[in-house]
Amino acid sequence: STQQPDLVIVGAGLFGLTIAERCAEELGLRVLILERRHHLGGNAYSEFDPETGVEVHKYGAHLFHTSNERVWQYANRFTSFTDYKHRVFGKYQGQVYSLPMNLGLINQFFGKSHTPDEARALIAEQSSEIATEDASNLEEKAISLIGRPLYEAFIKGYTAKQWQTDPTELSAEIITRLPVRYTFQNGWFSDTYEGLPVDGYTAWLTKMADHPNIEVRLETDFFAVADDYKGKVPIVYTGPVDEYFGNSEGRLSWRTVDLEESVVDTGDFQGTGVVNYNDQEVPYTRIIEFKHFHPEREKTHLPGKSVIVHEYSRFAEEGDEPYYPVNTADDRAKLLKYRELAKSEPMVLFGGRLGTYKYLDMHMAIGAALSMYDNKLKPHFTEGAELTSGGIDA
Ligand code: FAD
Ligand code: UDP
Repeated sequence: STQQPDLVIVGAGLFGLTIAERCAEELGLRVLILERRHHLGGNAYSEFDPETGVEVHKYGAHLFHTSNERVWQYANRFTSFTDYKHRVFGKYQGQVYSLPMNLGLINQFFGKSHTPDEARALIAEQSSEIATEDASNLEEKAISLIGRPLYEAFIKGYTAKQWQTDPTELSAEIITRLPVRYTFQNGWFSDTYEGLPVDGYTAWLTKMADHPNIEVRLETDFFAVADDYKGKVPIVYTGPVDEYFGNSEGRLSWRTVDLEESVVDTGDFQGTGVVNYNDQEVPYTRIIEFKHFHPEREKTHLPGKSVIVHEYSRFAEEGDEPYYPVNTADDRAKLLKYRELAKSEPMVLFGGRLGTYKYLDMHMAIGAALSMYDNKLKPHFTEGAELTSGGIDA
């Protein structure tokens, strides 16, 4: 139709879908979502492999977890979640260890049993060469937390492969979320809620857009049709912020991951969903075996076969999927300039992982979208409040 929608959303990822659902359902707005891929769902999108029946997360393994009650309740309106608890194992010099660092790993690595207090004393001694407050980069931070031997085994090589940057040049922040536990508890996440969508990610994400007021236009690049909407109708833009401004302040740097998918002739390749490869010589960072995310689907999986993905990390070039913000000092300087530009862009709000250049987990993307709805969109549409980004804000 030629009728203008009330709101245009660029990008059908979790951020855009959350905005669309709220505005259509709560405010009765007519929402148009433009998505340049052939599917909705953004990077959380998955497909069931037709040969094996295994659900494959097409843009890398996605594990849902949150401690945010509102986000959990909201997500549960569209899907229920299995009781899957994520665990990660790490291979190093021919042995397999249970991550994150815990009493099991410490005992195995040092070849001797330790009580929790003994392990604490050992790590305190090993990490005493640098005080955590004085740590100014990833390497120093890691050594100040776990000591040099564990750093060199489990962090140094993996991080070098994942970031292709010397760990002394990376921000200490990257590993603040890697805990050390003086128990045998080896759950990867520490959140209140965790699980995988029972019918898969795509069923969940499709349901979010299943509303008579929401139209999703796939294979449509916003920049090809921008003149129809810019300045005429409110826009929530969740694509890359630098691209919106024609890269005028320079490109922001991203890391991408090459995902090499294969079907192997065994019913069980590695006995678990994720194995990290901590040796620097192994070219990939980890192998994902998707069937282990859904043990409850065992009967629907083709016996004797499994789908695995080798992950190789590298700097994103033009045309690659931007996955993780590299966030160097240079990037942060550019981002400040883009935020200034965004402030004066009329009727456009910037959101999501790409629009804010922030690594957002799914629950953070949903939470940030709910905040934008509460604080910007609802006041605009119900009370006529001015719609300006006031900076890019997640
Ligand atoms: P996206 O999902 O990236 O969606 C943005 C959409 O905008 C895309 O579909 C894109 O095609 C579209 N778009 C961009 N530009 C245009 C344009 N010009 N015109 C039209 N459309 C456009 N989170 C977790 O909670 N747990 C995990 O285990 C986890 N694992 C991850 C693993 C990887 C490898 C990656 C990359 C991310 C992972 N995440 C995980 C994060 C999760 O993917 C994000 O939280 C989520 O994708 C954020 O949603 P979004 O809508 O902001 O962005
Ligand atoms: N990391 C590491 N060894 C591991 C796992 C993680 O050194 O076995 C470091 C690495 O620098 C990585 C960061 O911790 O970039 C975050 O790891 P996570 O697995 O959470 O990254 P993601 O799943 O987001 O790629």
